[in-house]
Amino acid sequence: MNEVCFRTRHLPNPASLETYRSIGGYETLKRLVTEKVPAAEIINQVKLSGLRGRGGAGFPTGLKWSFMPRYYDGPKYVICNTDEGEPGTFKDRDIIRYNPHQVIEGMAIAAYAMGARVGYNYIHGEIWAEYLAFERALDEARAAGFLGEHLFGTDFSFDIYAHHGYGAYICGEETALIESIEGKKGQPRFKPPFPASYGLYGRPTNVNNTESYASIPYILQYGGQAFQDLGVPGSGGTKIFSVSGHVEKPGNYEIGMGTPFPKLLELAGGVWKGRKLKAVIPGGSSTAVVPGEIMMQCTMDYDSIAKVGGSSLGAGSVIVMDETTDMVQVLNRLSYFYYEESCGQCTPCREGTGWLWRVVRRIAQGKGRPEDLDLLLDVSNNISGRTICALGDAAATPVISFIKHFRPEFEYYIQHGRSMVTG
Ligand code: SF4
Repeated sequence: MNEVCFRTRHLPNPASLETYRSIGGYETLKRLVTEKVPAAEIINQVKLSGLRGRGGAGFPTGLKWSFMPRYYDGPKYVICNTDEGEPGTFKDRDIIRYNPHQVIEGMAIAAYAMGARVGYNYIHGEIWAEYLAFERALDEARAAGFLGEHLFGTDFSFDIYAHHGYGAYICGEETALIESIEGKKGQPRFKPPFPASYGLYGRPTNVNNTESYASIPYILQYGGQAFQDLGVPGSGGTKIFSVSGHVEKPGNYEIGMGTPFPKLLELAGGVWKGRKLKAVIPGGSSTAVVPGEIMMQCTMDYDSIAKVGGSSLGAGSVIVMDETTDMVQVLNRLSYFYYEESCGQCTPCREGTGWLWRVVRRIAQGKGRPEDLDLLLDVSNNISGRTICALGDAAATPVISFIKHFRPEFEYYIQHGRSMVTG
């Protein structure tokens, strides 16, 4: 199995500097800095790799790096987003738990390419052990001379600070994350301006996901084409898929992009108890649910999940549901999550998420009304595309897709006051 971000996971003491150095860790950074490899050359390799943002949006990483103003001579920042908090997501915490030095090296290479001297890793508020593991790795890297002033005797200086959040889902949105680091309430900013021109403390800032940064040392060590070749056109490299729900072996699986979904399901031990697959949420709870028979025809890459599955790869958080799953109760739980996590800045999201949850809840409690499904779709359509950030769409998408694919279950609840699945 080709692994990029989990390269140390199967070695003794995987998070240590010694282990990371045993696989050539920090040699790529040293080469780039001491040989003064031009920034444009590094960014071109990242573009060639086909790496797309692993936090969910899937934006091409090399292109994002090219937006940073090259000749700006004030402070610039690189930020790592380890604030995964969406239901189904749990890969980034394993990266900083098992291979933190690869994230540090990836951030340092990014800083060198974009002219930043300071980096932050914003770590989700509910993962203390991983936060401490990352802090330990930072101490090791500083002591070994991989972070700090005049690295490798050159004029390149760079250091990283870990910043612990408080558990708000919305702080995973990059501008809310920036606000939070600045010590303010974590609420998304209006865009434009985007962080590349007005980011942390009003300075040019590049924000990437943890898995994205962890992929960088490999790309610069072996070349962008080698990384691209691990995947398929349009979806370069490997990807960590976090498989949860009704499988025998839930966990993180790093596989090549374009791997058939049935193969991933097999790696996760198959549907538990030998039951039939009913549905899959392929990219985290903000992505559309896909019926099992359609999902079995998908490959795990951006294009296939969109074109065949009608959903999104998102952060690669694969939630598997078996034939006994009550889809109305699932949507009830998901809708509550988005209502709870709305930051309240914009009316369609603040009011709409609560409205969605209350209507889904009354259906789930057997008190649904005949007009409720039309009402849910109407409210969803009036949230989508009308908010400052993507949380509004993230709340509407599950509602629309659950009703689209599992409408009879909702109608049964409304007509009979109980589930057609669990009785
Ligand atoms: Fe806040 Fe929701 Fe508006 Fe995003 S969409 S800014 S979470 S109110």
